[in-house]
This record gives sequence, structure tokens and C-alpha cells, in this order.
Amino acid sequence: MADASGFLKIKRKEAGNRPINERISDFSEVEQVLNNEDRMLQASRCMDCGIPFCHWGCPVDNLIPEWNDLLYKGDWKGAYMRLNATNNFPEFTGRICPAPCEHACVLSINQEPVTIRENEVAIVEKAFSEGYIKPVPPKYRTGKTVAVIGSGPSGMAAADLLNKAGHTVTLFEKDEKAGGLLRYGIPDFKLRKSTIDRRLDLMVKEGLIIRTGITIGKDIKGSELIEQFDAICITIGATYPRDLKAEGRELKGIHFAMDFLTNQNRINSGLLSKEENAINAEGKKVLVIGGGDTGSDCVGTSIRQKAEKVTQIEILPKPPLTRTENNPWPYWGKILKTSTSHEEGCDRFWGISTVRFLGANGNVTGVEVEDVEWKNTDGRYNMEIIPGTRRIIEADLVLLAMGFVHPVLDGLLSELGLELDERQNIKVDKKQSTSHQKVFAAGDSINGASLVVNAIASGRRVAKEIDLFLKKS
Ligand SMILES: Cc1cc2nc3c(=O)[nH]c(=O)nc-3n(C[C@H](O)[C@H](O)[C@H](O)COP(=O)(O)OP(=O)(O)OC[C@H]3O[C@@H](n4cnc5c(N)ncnc54)[C@H](O)[C@@H]3O)c2cc1C
Ligand code: SF4
Repeated sequence: MADASGFLKIKRKEAGNRPINERISDFSEVEQVLNNEDRMLQASRCMDCGIPFCHWGCPVDNLIPEWNDLLYKGDWKGAYMRLNATNNFPEFTGRICPAPCEHACVLSINQEPVTIRENEVAIVEKAFSEGYIKPVPPKYRTGKTVAVIGSGPSGMAAADLLNKAGHTVTLFEKDEKAGGLLRYGIPDFKLRKSTIDRRLDLMVKEGLIIRTGITIGKDIKGSELIEQFDAICITIGATYPRDLKAEGRELKGIHFAMDFLTNQNRINSGLLSKEENAINAEGKKVLVIGGGDTGSDCVGTSIRQKAEKVTQIEILPKPPLTRTENNPWPYWGKILKTSTSHEEGCDRFWGISTVRFLGANGNVTGVEVEDVEWKNTDGRYNMEIIPGTRRIIEADLVLLAMGFVHPVLDGLLSELGLELDERQNIKVDKKQSTSHQKVFAAGDSINGASLVVNAIASGRRVAKEIDLFLKKS
């Protein structure tokens, strides 16, 4: 146990963020780093509860009390070994996981939870800087081959474990660099891309083969891979965006959030010049439609591009500031989230529906909206329009950030004719096997758009199943 009374003596201390006026002029990470001494004291707040609900809350089953104890005692290497046992990429989750573990931390019943996410990233960064993390290629090769299609966190996790198990793994990616939404969706100010390169480098040194710029289903047929490899793992994500089919949708200046975010990420990586960027918020009145994480990332990116004004609207009601009776601990707290991007300057409105887009000379100039309320009838929420509330929000750049509906179905999935579930994600059984005996799937492509930690967990599960399948075949 870290310290039997640590939580009574030590208050939660976060690393904190860079000052707003400094960080909005660059795309560097917003979050700062706490000194080692304070970090170890933060670990001492862990009570090593009889039933560690934090562990229950973590989708990759991180052994949180164990590594907190080792961290408190200054055994950084030991802490890393425990962390590495359950999570391939703590450097990603430690930066961008919304930390359901902290919502489930027993301390959070009546105090602030342990800084679990920050402790996680501190441990893995120390492990990199001290050289505890080195390439460890498998001692022998099984002679079996696996093609992993899609290099987001689920594909990376599956490829990593299968390679470590001795199989010869090729990770195919349609974009010019691997990483999936970690690289092309999530902004640099949340996750710097050198973190992905550092990990990919390590995996290549361990024998993983990465082939980028190849769209499977187009450049190479899925059926060819099925012939050539002993097993296939599809991890293509769920990136088909939800559209807003209202009057005026065809106007110029209305874009999907991902097109906007990808362009900025490509500029930051030197893959696109500023001048080539067709979606620039500079000097514009930006309206972000959609109140989730993607929308928040559009807010932060617009501010850094020097937008004149940024507004974000959401159709659902404003979440409460504290848990409601029907949302108790240790479940995920459905409470108002204010991101670092929101703090940087943005007007936010909830319970607003879009009526139509307005324009002049073919360009968007505003959006007509109206208020809605959600009424609970027989356990189901129904949306009702509030009459007389129509008004116009001026905007010359509108970003649609209303989530994603399912994987892209054209190309690979339609070519292979894989069975889909009722939400049009890839249908898999308990072993994450698809309707084709040799083809497995993981991540957002089977679960729908979710979180990095869920993608890693799913990639880890599928790797175990593929390994068993290969051992039997
Ligand atoms: C803007 C944004 C911000 C987010 N922020 C967070 C956050 O802060 N925290 C968090 O936990 N989660 C966040 N998420 C969610 C998270 O990024 C995803 O849940 C996660 O990346 C899903 O991983 P995946 O491996 O299943 O798919 P993806 O990351 O989508 O990767 C799929 C990969 O497959 C490739 N691909 C697709 N089709 C083919 C093909 N035919 N051939 C070859 N390659 C193909 C794609 O190019 C892509 O690289 C965010 C998502 C977005 C969009
Ligand atoms: S991966 Fe996420 S849920 Fe798990 S310990 Fe880290 S921050 Fe918590």
C-alpha cells in the first residue's frame, strides 16, 4: 500500500496547463509536467482499496494500485513493468484518456481522485528517458503471417502483441504515416506526434513491418491478403461522419470536423503547407456544431488559427455540474466537461437545433437555430422544439462535429462482403472473428467511435484470439 494515510495528508495536485496566452500561439502540448517528488506524493494518495474500483473502471485493466505503490516508493522501473503488463501505449492513454478510472476511484466519493492518468504518463515517460524501454524482438518466429489493416491504436496494439508472440506481422495503412486518429484526428496540443513516431520506431526495431500509403480494398484487394496471410485483422476505425442534411448544406464554408483537423495536423507535421490549407479559420466567425471531444478539438484548433470568434452548439441539454441520483459512483460521471480548448475562449450553448444554413454568393454566412428541450416520457427522451426561439448565429466557417456513424463501408468491407451489425459496424463473435473464418476485427470498426483506451483493449483482445487461432491452424 502506498501510504496508509497519504490521502489524509496530501491534496490532489495536477501538473496544470501552460498559460492560455502562451499556448494559443502554438500547437505544442497544453499539459505541463509535475516534478518527480510531487508526482510520488500524488501516488501516495492511493489507498490500495480492497476492491480497486479504478482497476474495474479502466478498460485495459491497468493494475493501478500496484504501480501507484511502486511509484510512491520511487521504484519507477517496477512501476513501469506493472503498467506495461496491461497497456501497450501508456504514453497515449496517459495523455488523452478521459480517465474513467478516476471517476471510479474510491477517493472521488467525497474527495478529489488520485491523479491516475498523470501518474501513468509520468511513469512511462520516465521509463523512456531512463532507457527502461528498449526494443525486444521475439526470440523465435512462428512462421505464421498476419496482416493488420489500419494503424490506429487498435491496429497498433494488435500488431504489437502478435509480433511479440513471434508471428510475422505487416501493418497496412492508407495514409502516408501510421497512427490513425492519434495522428490525423487528435490535435498536437493534446498529443504530440513524436510520441507516436517513438513507439512505431520501437515496434519496427522489434520486427513489425509497416506499409503506409496503401488502401486495402483499392490498391491491394482484401481477397489477395486473405490468400497471402494466415490471418487478417481489420482495424479500420469508424470514420464515416454524421452529416447535417439541412437546407443550404451545399454552401461553401461548411466542412466536416475531421477534414479541418486533419489539415492542421498535416501542416504541423510538414505534410501540407499553410497556403495549401483550404479550411482556415483565420479571421473567421467559426460555428462548431456538436458538443463532444471532436468539437472541442475544433475549438482549440480554430483559436490557434486566429479565428475572430468561436461558438459551439450542442443539441443535447447542458450536463449537470455534479452527479445526479441516477448516475452514482463508480460509474462514469455524466457531468459538464470544460476542456482546455473551451477555457481558451469559446461561447457554448446547449439544447440548440439547426434549422438551416444561410448564405450569400454561395458562401455560408450564418446558421438559423432554435431551442429544443428533452422530455422524459416512459424512460425515453424525446426532443421538443420551443416555439418562437428561432434566431441566427453568424458564421463564415461551420464545422460539423456530430460524431461518426460507422466504418467506411465502400472498398474493403463491401469487397469482402463481411456481415455488419445493426449499427453497420463489423459484426464479430466473442472471439472477435468476423463472418469470414480467417478475418478478425477490433477497435472502433466493431464498437463504433469510442476512445483510444477502448481501441487498445480491443486490439489486445483480438491479438490473443488470433494467436490462439494461429496455434490451432
Ligand atoms: C478529433 C478526435 C479527437 C479524439 N480525441 C480523443 C481523446 O482525447 N481521447 C480518446 O480516448 N479518444 C479520442 N478520440 C477517439 C479515438 O481517436 C478513437 O476512438 C481511436 O483512435 C480508434 O482507434 P482505431 O484503431 O479503432 O481506429 P482509427 O484510429 O480510426 O484508425 C483506423 C486506421 O485505419 C486506416 N484505414 C482505414 N481504412 C483502411 C484501408 N482500407 N486500408 C488501409 N488502412 C485503412 C485509417 O487511415 C486509420 O489510420 C478522438 C477522435 C477524434 C476523431
Ligand atoms: S488507461 Fe485510462 S482508464 Fe486506464 S488507468 Fe490510464 S487513464 Fe485510467
